[in-house]
Amino acid sequence: MLWTARLCLLFFVSSLGVPVDRYSTKGHQKLLLISFDGFRWDYDRDVDTPNLDTMAKDGVKARYVTPPFLTITSPTHFTLLTGRYIENHGVIHNMWFNISTGEKQPYYATQFKNEWWDNGSLPIWITAQRQGLRTGSLHFPGTQPSYQGESQTVKDVEPRFYNYKNETKWRENVDKVMDTWFGEMDLDFVSLYFGEPDSTGHKYGPDSPERREMVKQVDRTVGYIRSSAERNGLTDSLNIIITADHGMSNVYRNGLVKEIILSKIPGFSFSDIAFHLVDFGPSGMLLPRKGMLDTVYKALKGAHPHLHVFKKEEMPKRLHFANNNRILPIILFSDPGYVINGFFPVQTHKGEHGFDNVEMDMKPFFRAVGPAFQKNLEVGPFETVNIYPLMCHILGIKPEPNDGHLDVTKHMLVSATEGHPKDFKSNIFVGLAAVAGFLVVVFIVLVSFHVFKKKTNYTGSEKSVPPESKEETHQTPL
Ligand SMILES: [Zn+2]
Repeated sequence: MLWTARLCLLFFVSSLGVPVDRYSTKGHQKLLLISFDGFRWDYDRDVDTPNLDTMAKDGVKARYVTPPFLTITSPTHFTLLTGRYIENHGVIHNMWFNISTGEKQPYYATQFKNEWWDNGSLPIWITAQRQGLRTGSLHFPGTQPSYQGESQTVKDVEPRFYNYKNETKWRENVDKVMDTWFGEMDLDFVSLYFGEPDSTGHKYGPDSPERREMVKQVDRTVGYIRSSAERNGLTDSLNIIITADHGMSNVYRNGLVKEIILSKIPGFSFSDIAFHLVDFGPSGMLLPRKGMLDTVYKALKGAHPHLHVFKKEEMPKRLHFANNNRILPIILFSDPGYVINGFFPVQTHKGEHGFDNVEMDMKPFFRAVGPAFQKNLEVGPFETVNIYPLMCHILGIKPEPNDGHLDVTKHMLVSATEGHPKDFKSNIFVGLAAVAGFLVVVFIVLVSFHVFKKKTNYTGSEKSVPPESKEETHQTPL
């Protein structure tokens, strides 16, 4: 009888949800984080996207999200993985550089510069693994390095000269993640990266028919991912977050605008510069030679109506792009439509990113679906630093110190740890039903016990009933 009572009590307490935290069921909820590079928040407005629409009905859609500044690929992806602003996680640029030697490495080579990435902030893969989960990453920026000597359980680093557009390859990558990593290997967290529609947006511009075609390919892939989840029996355990690192904006040149060419600005000379990162879209950084900081700054400040020039210490606080030794003393960025050229225009892209993160063209999209998320819910915009604490919460892991907060996103979840009102009501109902069930069981057990005792007395087993008990059983029932 005691075990029955214990069982009922346990069921009652659990159903009230008081001491049992749903999200502390470590490992029970899986998570797939997907980035479609450069998918601007409004790319679904001029293209039919049936699969993204279905995902929004089945889950949560944010109007848009705000990436950190500098709005370029590696820094913003590392914010997704760490929940930190760029000045706090230290991956401040797509390019590794050394101001002493003047050496610069492009985006792909920088993926292999371990010290560029492993500089104090732990990405979610490592934090999750230290807390008993198993993780994987496919092509996501930051996948290749190790962090404090640790790597993901499995990783697939993007090959050199990878064809970002190949839809067959996309499906092979999805199959690897869904069938092998989640299905067979039972991983808890995977990050998955696609280099589109960024490449197409750069080459043809964000308003081009080529970009719209690429968004259709993204949409087909979203449908394929969701059907793969279903095929692998993951629908009830796997949460999927789809977002991006930044948006895309049109660039104007060839006489349409007065281009920004630093060497043509009166009073500015590259001979005053010890090291520079320019000719890289709309942003740049300069290290003036010793004693030349003010000369360079005064020459550039106000020199072009669409060029913003800041000393590091003057950078607007809201951009969170100053407080790091890797950031150079002068920071430049242009308004949408313009890029920053050094000696003469060498950039050919029709679309660019890297602008101020207040610009609507820089905002990525955000969708989420799965057992942790509400259905058919559209939410307002939020900063992408908040995706990290949301992911940690879903996985049931303790986050590293970060710049985001769960309060910003927890209304997307079906049940926060505090208990959702709707769930609380249903829990009360289930709890009361359990109490009633418990009382019925107690009643039945007591009656059965009484009948059993009477029956024992009737059969008159001398051995099993001590004399004094036997004496009592002879009493006339009241
Ligand atoms: Zn990107």
